[in-house]
Amino acid sequence: MKSLRLAIIGSGPAGFYTAHRLMKKVPEAVVDMYERLPVPYGLVRFGVAPDHPEVKNCEDTFEEVAASPRFNYIGNVRVGHDIELAKMTPHYDAILFSYGASEDRQLGIPGEDRLGVYSAREFVGWYNGLPEFQHLEPDLQTGDQAVIVGQGNVALDVARILLTPVDDLRKTDISGHALESLSRNKIRFVKIVGRRGPLQASFTVKEARELMHIPSVAFEPIDRSLYPPDTTKLPRIQKRIAQVLVNGTKWTTEESPKSWALSFLKAPKSMDANGPSDLLTSVTFTNQAFAPGTDTLSKSASVVPTEETTVYPASLAFRSVGYKSTTLPGLSDIGVPFNTKLGIIPNDLEGRVLSTPDGYSAEAYKYVPGLYCAGWVKRGPTGVIASTMADAFTSADAIAQDWEGNREFLNSDGKKGENKSTGLGWDGIKDEVLERAIRPVSWQDWKRIDQAERSRGKELGKEREKFADIEGMLRVLDG
Ligand SMILES: Cc1cc2nc3c(=O)[nH]c(=O)nc-3n(C[C@H](O)[C@H](O)[C@H](O)COP(=O)(O)OP(=O)(O)OC[C@H]3O[C@@H](n4cnc5c(N)ncnc54)[C@H](O)[C@@H]3O)c2cc1C
Repeated sequence: MKSLRLAIIGSGPAGFYTAHRLMKKVPEAVVDMYERLPVPYGLVRFGVAPDHPEVKNCEDTFEEVAASPRFNYIGNVRVGHDIELAKMTPHYDAILFSYGASEDRQLGIPGEDRLGVYSAREFVGWYNGLPEFQHLEPDLQTGDQAVIVGQGNVALDVARILLTPVDDLRKTDISGHALESLSRNKIRFVKIVGRRGPLQASFTVKEARELMHIPSVAFEPIDRSLYPPDTTKLPRIQKRIAQVLVNGTKWTTEESPKSWALSFLKAPKSMDANGPSDLLTSVTFTNQAFAPGTDTLSKSASVVPTEETTVYPASLAFRSVGYKSTTLPGLSDIGVPFNTKLGIIPNDLEGRVLSTPDGYSAEAYKYVPGLYCAGWVKRGPTGVIASTMADAFTSADAIAQDWEGNREFLNSDGKKGENKSTGLGWDGIKDEVLERAIRPVSWQDWKRIDQAERSRGKELGKEREKFADIEGMLRVLDG
């Protein structure tokens, strides 16, 4: 039986869960997974907070997938840069894009690039050992107040890392450089600011509760008027969050050395420097009000700006308003448009790539045979690992259905069932990659890096000490 040769681009949960499901459903499926970094797992390694080790249990499933002889990991190869997509297509029947979201959304306000202003993505990457942010050195010493713009779970992760006693982080896999810097952290007060009200905020109850439980860190009481008098009548999820926020902490802001607050109905206006240097000193917000007639209890309640502003002093600010996917160089060469507005590859929601940027909403949409997507680049950068898994399963089912239905794939030249792919997969492009002095990393190679990180961690009494530079990772293999 002819193999189904699939290239998966990106080794995060979307890529791994698609491989997992497809290899189960289609016994002849053979998967090559490409990853731009030597090390796998995407945001499970570089996004999930170090004090949430249980979230990383999904790696056990990914290991099982990688153990299959029908699975091949090719790390340290950045598709679109180290190898052109057009050079890959002749050797595969299908390609799945699961390369996530590697940029962040901007606020578009004056002063956003000022010293002391960071994106949550940079900060998270820095404490999690993402090579591109190893030298970030966020300024945690100049002042004691930080402002976070945005109220999703990532914002709460950032606040928690800033407020947690550093000794509680030592046993986690947080990067050594971050631990060192956090041990000198002078931030005492963190304000997490949102454009709308508490019933519209997107953080979840678990993350709010964790912040409430950090010893000796007080929560500034929430403005009770933002909630209806009887919170027990709220929908279940909002009710639970309301209980946590209204109950607050047992520590008061007067007696605690550190505290945090949630501030609502404020849209960022500018990041300001009122001193002699370019260093951030405050963040100005335009106060918002609920739009007339909007249902203030609804998740989708809308707000309008007022004339009033609020200024919060801060030496440190983070924008935490979401990640953003971008196109991959060469995507359009193989007939794939990119929807820059939504930051997704247009698809039919089941994962089949469409040739019209507007996707399903376009009047005449067409499938691009053999091309699929999954995860954040398919749906946009929202959702947890569980929802990414469900989404990846849908994409895998679409591939399996098309294969079993003898549909067109790559190299079919418009004829169903006449697939002229070389079937070589990685073997068909390896030489080209090697000629460019790229050092591909196999799964066995990754396991050696993994082992080296665990040994480094053991010496420090923590689970692992990650290599935060690509050279360090590769030295383990070739040193
Ligand atoms: C800060 C943060 C914290 C989070 N915490 C949690 C949590 O506690 N619990 C939870 O359930 N969910 C959490 N999530 C959500 C979860 O991480 C995502 O749902 C999930 O990782 C999305 O999976 P993905 O595979 O689409 O993308 P990613 O995980 O981003 O994987 C994409 C992969 O593609 C690779 N790639 C990119 N470009 C290329 C290229 N050109 N060639 C080859 N490879 C490429 C990337 O390096 C990456 O490895 C968090 C997210 C963030 C941002």
